[in-house]
Amino acid sequence: MGKIRAEYIWIDGTEPTPLLRAKTKVMDEGETPPEWGFDGSSTNQATGDRSDCILRPVFTCPDPLRADGDILVLCDVYSADGTAHPTNTRAACAAAEAKHKAQEAWYGMEQEYTLMKNGRPAGFPEGGYPGPQGPYYCGTGSSNVVGRELIEEHLEACILAGLKISGINAEVMPGQWEFQIGPAGPTEVGDHMYIARYLLNRMAESYGFDASFEAKPAKGDWNGAGCHTNFSTKAMREPGGWDVIVAACEKLGQPEKIKLHIANYGHDIESRLTGKHETCSYKEFKYGVSDRGASIRIPLATKLTGYGYFEDRRPNANMDPYTVARLLLETTCD
Ligand code: ADP
Ligand code: MN
Ligand code: MN
Ligand code: MN
Repeated sequence: MGKIRAEYIWIDGTEPTPLLRAKTKVMDEGETPPEWGFDGSSTNQATGDRSDCILRPVFTCPDPLRADGDILVLCDVYSADGTAHPTNTRAACAAAEAKHKAQEAWYGMEQEYTLMKNGRPAGFPEGGYPGPQGPYYCGTGSSNVVGRELIEEHLEACILAGLKISGINAEVMPGQWEFQIGPAGPTEVGDHMYIARYLLNRMAESYGFDASFEAKPAKGDWNGAGCHTNFSTKAMREPGGWDVIVAACEKLGQPEKIKLHIANYGHDIESRLTGKHETCSYKEFKYGVSDRGASIRIPLATKLTGYGYFEDRRPNANMDPYTVARLLLETTCD
């Protein structure tokens, strides 16, 4: 009987921003990945006296970093008593998705991140700064971009894994890049996002980089890292969709919803949403066509055709995609 390697991946309990953990199970070819366990006391998910946590497989895809037949297994974490662990945000997202199935919600998430080397963004010289922002966004040439070999390999790996990756680009700050996942459903976008983040972390090891999802990795006049979330329902994508989009923006603009979303859009969001660097201050809320200084941007094409989608520009790079997807669905459709 042939053997395969299954990489079990889960989201841990590190605060304020969880990390991805993974370990390998050797299985028989053709075997369905079973539940597994881990030491939750080493991941901030349990105490030492009740340390066993359960890994329940929820999404499987080919492992592009190993041999043919090897797989990646994304898992939900359950406590020893069988209840969803507090760090398990996917369960609530899946429930919201089931409730709003008829909406046919789609998401496109633009994951920005920063390659770090020696504790600073790649491309930042020791003890100093690179030239000011300008030539780096979608840049070419070795003075303007760093890390392209890794980024290309990561894109290839995401495609081979079967993820709904829709593009990549170099970002405004040196060492900063972006990949986009979508359009995909509420739970699906999170599953694909976490696998893509895992692959990035893992592949960066070979280059001595760390992929940081920190919201503001360089203080001062440097862009932060976000995860703009593009959103639409079936009604928004059809003629008459403009009115549905405006109504959704109005709902998102209610004071208690602004607070709720900002509180759940990633650690240190106040440092990033300053009102500068293509953001709207976290103290304000506005939406507008084409406006990259708004909380929510409605693409020009959506205005012109009268239907399409909108872009919530507030989520941080370090956001939890399940939580962001769930909140957008609940706030606009409940
Ligand atoms: P930006 O112009 O803000 O940089 P990107 O091209 O980086 O935008 O990302 C846009 C994302 O939105 C992509 O992932 C794309 O697949 C997704 N998208 C496109 N149409 C829709 C839609 N109708 N609903 C949700 N997401 C969409
Ligand atoms: Mn983008
Ligand atoms: Mn971007
Ligand atoms: Mn964007």
